[in-house]
Order: sequence, then C-alpha cells, then structure tokens
Amino acid sequence: MVQIRSLVGGVAGGVMAVALMAGAQAQSLEALKQDAKSTDDVLTYGMGYNNQRYSPLKQINSRNVANMTAKWSYSLNNPQGQESQPIVFDGVMYVTTHNTTVALDPLTGKQLWKQDIELPQDVFKMACCGIVNRGAAIFDGKLFRATLDAHIIALDAKTGKQLWKSKAADYKDGQAMTGAPLIANGVVITGIAGGEYGTRGFIDGWEPATGKKLWRIYTTAAPGEKGGDTWPGDTAMKGGAPSWLTGAYDPELDLVYWGTGNGGPWNAEARKGDNLYVDSVLAIRPSTGELVWHYQFSPNDLYDYDATEVGMLVDMKINGENKKVLTQANRNGFFYVLDRTNGKLLAANPYVKVNWADKIDLTTGRPVESDVTKRIRAGGDEEVWPSVVGGKNWNPMSWNPSTGLAYANTLNMSWPYQLAKPEYKRGEWYLGVNFRGVTMPKDQPHGYLSAIDPMTGKSKWQMAWPGQPSMAGTLSTAGDLVFTGAATGEFMAVNASTGEKLWQFQTGSGIIGLPVTWSHNGKQYVSVVSGAGGVWGLLGDERMASVPAGGSVWTFEVR
Ligand code: CA
Ligand code: CA
Repeated sequence: MVQIRSLVGGVAGGVMAVALMAGAQAQSLEALKQDAKSTDDVLTYGMGYNNQRYSPLKQINSRNVANMTAKWSYSLNNPQGQESQPIVFDGVMYVTTHNTTVALDPLTGKQLWKQDIELPQDVFKMACCGIVNRGAAIFDGKLFRATLDAHIIALDAKTGKQLWKSKAADYKDGQAMTGAPLIANGVVITGIAGGEYGTRGFIDGWEPATGKKLWRIYTTAAPGEKGGDTWPGDTAMKGGAPSWLTGAYDPELDLVYWGTGNGGPWNAEARKGDNLYVDSVLAIRPSTGELVWHYQFSPNDLYDYDATEVGMLVDMKINGENKKVLTQANRNGFFYVLDRTNGKLLAANPYVKVNWADKIDLTTGRPVESDVTKRIRAGGDEEVWPSVVGGKNWNPMSWNPSTGLAYANTLNMSWPYQLAKPEYKRGEWYLGVNFRGVTMPKDQPHGYLSAIDPMTGKSKWQMAWPGQPSMAGTLSTAGDLVFTGAATGEFMAVNASTGEKLWQFQTGSGIIGLPVTWSHNGKQYVSVVSGAGGVWGLLGDERMASVPAGGSVWTFEVR
C-alpha cells in the first residue's frame, strides 16, 4: 500500500514537476518578449529584443535630471575595459567582467555572489581588441555568459554555481567570445570573434538546460555550398566573417538578426568575389539555425567594416506605409534601413564622411566603389574615410520613438590604406595591409554624440566630444533624455531634442559600457559600468594617460 502510494505520488509529482518547469520556461520566454515594455527589469542585451535601448520611464527627465546623484558604486576589482551591460531581474543585478560574474543588490550595490572564471594565461595575447565581456543573458533561472577562451557557461542565477560549460572554438586559433548571448525561442545563441586571425566565423545555438549544441551556421560559404562561388578556391575557410556581438530578435516573425564582420585577410584582392556572408546581416530561424535571408553591406570589403553591431528593430512609417525595419549605423559610414521581413534595402545614406564609395545603389543594394577604392585596388596608397574603427564602432545606439531619431556615438577619423601581401600564421593577425593606425583630423572634433534621422543619415544635432571621442553605448528614455559616457569618465544626460548636456558625473575611469535604466517600487534608477580600455587602448592615444583604469558599477537616482 505504502509502496503503491509512493509510486503513484512519484509519478504524479514527476508530471507536475515537468508541467511546472514548462510553465516557468514559458513565463520566462514571455518575460523576455516583454522586456522593452517591462520597466522593473532589464532582461536582454539591448533592453528588449528590438535592441532599441529605449525605456518608457520618465520619472527622471529633462527637467529634473540636473538633481541626479550617485546612489552606490561597486568595485569590479578589474583593470580591463568594461563593456558589460547590467542585467536586472527579480531584485538582483548581474554584471560580467572578463574573469568574473557578480550578482549585486541593485538598491545598495551589496555583493550577493561572485564567481571567478579561470582563463589560460596565453589567451590574453590572442584576444584582439580588448580583454572584455559585454554581458550575460538570463532565462529559466540560469545566467548564460561567454568566456574569452571561447566557451559558453551557464550559472545558477541564485547562487552563481556553474551548471554547465561548452566549448565553441579553440582560442589558440585566435577565436574568442566577448558578446552577450541571446535567448530566442528557447535557444541560447552565441557568436565568435577572431576575424583578424584567418578564422572561419559561425553562429551557434545551444540547449539552455544542458549546453548541448543544437546547431551551427558557418558565416562563410564553403566551396560547393550555396554562395561558395563568391570565394576563390578554399579562401572561405580562413575567410573571417566573425559574429562577435549580440543579435536582435523579432518574436512575431520568429527571426533572429545577426551581424557579421570583415573578411580574412583584410586585403580583399586575395579573395576576389563578394565573399558571402562577410559584413552582412543574417536572418536566422532560432530553433533550427536555418538562414532565411541575408543582406551584404560591404561585398569584398577591404576596410575591416564589420557589420557585427546589428542595429535596431523599429516599426516606422515610410512613404505612408507601416514598415518593419532593421536600421543600422554601419561601420562603413552608411546608415541603412532594411525591410526586416525580407532584407530589401529601403535607404542607405552616409551619416559620417565617406570616400570609399560614392553611394549605395538602392536598385541593386550594392555600394558603388569610389575612385579612391579603385586606386587602392590597383596598389595605391590613399587616405580612406571612415577609418578602420568606422563611422561608429561596436558600441550600440538607441532609439527614441517620440523624436524618431537614432542616438549614436559617431567617429570622425580616416586611415592611411595600402595593400600588402597577406601571410597566414596560426594565432596571428592575417591582414595583408600596410597598417599604420588611424588619422585624427587636426581642426575638427574626432567624434560626436549624433541624433540621426535613419532615412537620410543626417543629424538633427551633434554634440562634439572634446578631444577623445566616446566609444560608449547610448540609452534613450521617455524623459526626453539620452544617457551616455565619455572616454574620460563622465557619465552624462543629454536633452534628446536639442543635444544640450544637462548633467554629468565623474565615475573614476573611462566609460565604454552600456547604460540601462530600471525601476523598483515605482522609483527610477540609472546604472552604468565604468572602466577604460577596449579597442581604443590599441590606438595609443596619449591623452588617455590621465584616465586611470579600474572597473566599477554605478547606480544613480533623483532624490
Ligand atoms: Ca524590462
Ligand atoms: Ca574586424
């Protein structure tokens, strides 16, 4: 009798547990879909699947932001560049560095747990462009994050205990992981860095419960595959197209949009052809990894114009018609608007100085290369706009539906460019370019906070950065505000309509991170991670000598 009862109880309990788990997962998935609207939490990289980094919160606004003050600061005890976007869920804030994951009380900054990541020492000389991590993803009680040595791990969100760890690539090949994972339709999706090392890019889908790899889509088309004829011989196998940032997701269309980077080597004459899917956006079915459509921004790219920062999903009226678009400030200097249902190009206009192409042909969707690029292909030495760091780098922009403007930290610099002979060595840069860094204009600002009309690429206003341009992300709010940070450490609020700076606060190190805003018990807070470094460190700007390293998390309020 006892045995039977316990058996029945066991079975019923098991079924109930499964049902409860499925329910929790469904709830968790629904919360992710609602993230852009739910103000009490920040569940996704991009503050919503649409990547708009826009909050409807307006308690802190252009009239009272001058009274904003720091509520708390937390030391990350880490001297590297801090590019992490905080996640806020269920009374806990999660922040990543390259070698730790921390859980904090978002109201006090008190550490709840901290989990170290062991990394092999030689990974540090391999990782291109900064020892960074850009944040975690949360789903079904687990926190997911990538590691510099190309693994993805899952931690128990309550305790920080590691639940599983899966390997994506061999870091000794020059592949690394720095981006925040994306959870779409119950799949954990990650990209890979290493486009400068003669690697082959890919995007992976993982099972959240176990870390089992569900699918992989390679981002260069191999010989014999569809698109394989856009590469000579087997050049696609070292052809780059890294996928090192987080994509966006449209749950209605069930499409994930993921950006890819430069071809390998940079010298495109060594890989004649369009080189699919270099510098593209891929629209992917998250459950299967099926490639539904693609659009290539820079075919046969010479200039390291990564399109990895995929941009924002916006619903807007174009010529009186409601359109679901994907809008991107491409590193190549053009601001793109694509129909995100099918990848059709709707607009592409320069938002910074451009001389590598005369225009993007709206009929063919292709750039028309300029005489400058023609001379370079013939062996010339030319000054190219924009530079290798682009019209905008990886740091994401934000959208304000009231102004209809995109807020981005844009760059105003060129670079001297000449082809050279590429030579592949495992784990070393594979460029084939006479690389001499970037050129700062002497008589102009080197970058701006720009408020850009996506259809024209023109800025309604620009706030010039004195000296050092900003490589921080931006946050927009219904309070008519844009939040961003300076390379020299000032976190600031700017009037979204006029570009007037309304408030600033020195965070102690440079800001290259991604501000977020959230609320608790009806009160609004703004948080950002501070810590100089990242790609800018490679450019050797002597003005950064007066900006100390040191990662910290800050939270602000209006009292
Ligand atoms: Ca939210
Ligand atoms: Ca690159």
